[in-house]
Amino acid sequence: MTMKPQPPNPEHKRMKRERKTITYMVDIYCKGHHGTHGRLCPECQQFKDYALLRLSKCPFQEKKTTCGKCVIHCYKPDMKAEVRKVMRYSGPRLLIHHPTLALHHAWDGRRKPPTLDKAA
Ligand SMILES: [Zn+2]
Repeated sequence: MTMKPQPPNPEHKRMKRERKTITYMVDIYCKGHHGTHGRLCPECQQFKDYALLRLSKCPFQEKKTTCGKCVIHCYKPDMKAEVRKVMRYSGPRLLIHHPTLALHHAWDGRRKPPTLDKAA
């Protein structure tokens, strides 16, 4: 499916949920690896800011699949490696701590990855 770039839509419930998922995933990772509580270490904070920025600029917005399935891969290479690490660690744990969110994330991943309409 091709589509035109979507306007940013931070208030859409899907986008709010995406931000929540990212936040929890980074929290879980930082707690597990860097021993932080309630506050991220500077590295993880930087990573989270980057992930949220990419999300806010995602051309698919609420019509996106999950970032892991997306055809665009908007993360720069070192951040992409980082997100893989975080997801691998936090994915299964999210299922325990925030099962609804994890289920939604799995469900969103079943969406066919859209591609951008080149004519747009
Ligand atoms: Zn950390």
